[in-house]
Amino acid sequence: MIQVTKVVVEPEAEKLVLEVLRSGKLAQGPLVAELESQFAAAHGTAHAVAVNNGTTALLAALDAAGVGPGDEVITSPFTFAATLNAVLTTGASVRFGDIGDDFNLDPSTVAQQITSSTKALLPVHLYGQLADMRSFEALAAEHGLEIIEDAAQAVGASRDGKRAGSWGIGCFSMYATKNVSTGEGGMITTNSDEVANYLRILRNQGMSDRYVYEMIGQNLRLTDLAAALGIPQMNRLDEINERRRWNADQLRVGLDGIEGLLLPPEPPAGSEHVYHQFTIRITDESGVTRDNFVENMRNLGVACGVYYPKVVFDYECYADHPRVFTAPVPLARQAAAQVVSLPVHPHLTSEDLEQICSAARAAVA
Ligand SMILES: *Cc1c(COP(=O)(O)O)cnc(C)c1O
Repeated sequence: MIQVTKVVVEPEAEKLVLEVLRSGKLAQGPLVAELESQFAAAHGTAHAVAVNNGTTALLAALDAAGVGPGDEVITSPFTFAATLNAVLTTGASVRFGDIGDDFNLDPSTVAQQITSSTKALLPVHLYGQLADMRSFEALAAEHGLEIIEDAAQAVGASRDGKRAGSWGIGCFSMYATKNVSTGEGGMITTNSDEVANYLRILRNQGMSDRYVYEMIGQNLRLTDLAAALGIPQMNRLDEINERRRWNADQLRVGLDGIEGLLLPPEPPAGSEHVYHQFTIRITDESGVTRDNFVENMRNLGVACGVYYPKVVFDYECYADHPRVFTAPVPLARQAAAQVVSLPVHPHLTSEDLEQICSAARAAVA
């Protein structure tokens, strides 16, 4: 079975992990600092602050941006629940724009959601492709809003000459399935000295120095053990993402011309998509339902993913939530009904890619 994700721990990572184990210093230390430098360099930001996962990265970033009770945040309806959970945990309310063809929050649908309580825009760089950040930047400037990027799936991605996490406060995840993985882990990027300083204090029980408490803090620290897994991957980040792009190109060629199977739109010129997922749409013209397509693929030896089967607020726990302001989001609903993510990870062989394409051809027939 060809899986959607494959985790391979390289020899360099094994060696580094073993060094950490033998040092007996397992908590946050010099390797976390090294991983932070790599992230800042890779995304062109002045700072990167490591935390224990992508959800706490979002929470801490929202906190650093001053988001709290009484504020509103506008985000994408087509995202992982973590995005919404983080906003609601701060005590803020959430509103939604709709998405575009690229599956990302569409800036032209966001303007009408802005109210006098709006504090921040939270676009999600879904599947490894940046949202239209130039437009969000303009909206934020016009209305005096903060920008927080859910860049959990977009390590190393860029658009209009700028990398993910360099437009606002960037929140990355290093969860087991992400392009760069430490099992669990998160990273926050920023160009603001003030925000970086705040985040470093917040993640360490609010201490600026030993027992010097500046604020009510938390323990959001990443471990050197986790950083040891991430450092070798960050050294090869361009190669890893290049390989995903190459695989995506092979899939585009091999899947061309299948009736009712829509390929993901080509990324805009000058942008770097990092294909965390390669997501196609199965439309009515295919003659199969999306769910049948996934089942047929499985029977043909190819595991697929559905990210995400519903718009994010369509679950019972959010439905009547007083701080969740839903909106009609027809394009997000259509995507939720049509999307299928095919394997695109860097460990696929040419034969795997051929098998995925021939399976897809058979799965719609
Ligand atoms: C993975 C992910 C997160 C959460 O990251 P964790 O490290 O799992 O907490 C948030 N948003 C999106 C879009 C994600 O894909």
